[in-house]
Amino acid sequence: MNAKEWLEKAKDEGFAIGAFNVDNLEIFKAVVAAAKNKKSPVIVEFSDSEAKYFGLANIVDLVQNARETEGVSLFLNLDHGPDKENVEAAIDAGFEMVHFDGAKKPYEENLRITKEIVPLAHEKGLTVEAEIDHIAGSSTVHKEQITIEEIKQGFTNPERAKKFVGETGIDIYAAFFGNVHGVFPIMPKVDLELLKKIREVLPNTFLSMHGGSGISDEQVRQAIQVGGVVKININTELRQAFRVSLEKALRENPDEYAVYKIMPAVISAIQSVVEHKIDIFGSGGKA
Ligand SMILES: [Zn+2]
Repeated sequence: MNAKEWLEKAKDEGFAIGAFNVDNLEIFKAVVAAAKNKKSPVIVEFSDSEAKYFGLANIVDLVQNARETEGVSLFLNLDHGPDKENVEAAIDAGFEMVHFDGAKKPYEENLRITKEIVPLAHEKGLTVEAEIDHIAGSSTVHKEQITIEEIKQGFTNPERAKKFVGETGIDIYAAFFGNVHGVFPIMPKVDLELLKKIREVLPNTFLSMHGGSGISDEQVRQAIQVGGVVKININTELRQAFRVSLEKALRENPDEYAVYKIMPAVISAIQSVVEHKIDIFGSGGKA
C-alpha cells in the first residue's frame, strides 16, 4: 500500500497516521522501533532545515533501509517545503509525500506554485499537502504564552479552503482550528466545530493536524473521530524527549565518551512518546 492508500484506509476506518518529525538519528530509530512494536503505519517527515541537515539522498536511503530490514510501513514526507525548488528536489530524491507551505507568500503565488507542484507529484504517485493560512507558533517548548488573537489569525476559512483545494487538486489540506506549532504553558483548545465545517466542505480531501504536540489526548481523539483528521504531525514532544533524556543520560554517565553507547536510553524515551501517540491515533495493529 502506498501513502495515499494508507490515508484512504485511515479515513474509512477512523484512525490517524502519525507524521513524526526527524531531526536526528535517535528520533528516527525511535519512530521505526515504535512502528514495528505497535504494528502501525507511520510517516517520517523532515522540515526543510531538518532535510538539509541530513541530506535528501541520505534520508531516502535511511527510510528504504529501515523498511527492508525492519519490515515497517514507513512513508517519507517533506514537511513545510518553503519553495517549489525544495519540493521538486524532494520529489526527485524519492520522497513519497510532499508538503508545500506557501502560506507566507501572497495567495495568488501560493495558488500558482501549488498548481505547478501537484502534477509533478501526482505523476510519480506522491501525495501533496498544502494550506492557505499560517499556523501560529514554532516547534519548541515555549515559556511565553500565546494569545487567542495570534491563533485566530491563522484559522482556516472553510469556503476559502474549498476554493483552494478545488483549484489546486491537492490531496491533503493542512487545517488550522486552534492547533499551533510547539508546546505552550497553557495550550489553546482546538475548535472542533470549525474542524467539522472544514470536513463538510472538503469531503474528498485528507485533513492534517499540524502541531499535534501538547494537545490533550481527548482533543486529539475528537479531532480524529469528529473532525476526520487522518495525518497528525508531531515534532516538539520528540525534541523534548530527546533533549531531556539525553541530558539525563549524560549526567548519569559522566565518563562515557562513546556517546552512542548511552543512546539506547534516549531512543527508548522517545519511543515511549511515539507509542503513546500511536495508541491515541488508533493506528496500532493496522500494519
Ligand atoms: Zn507544521
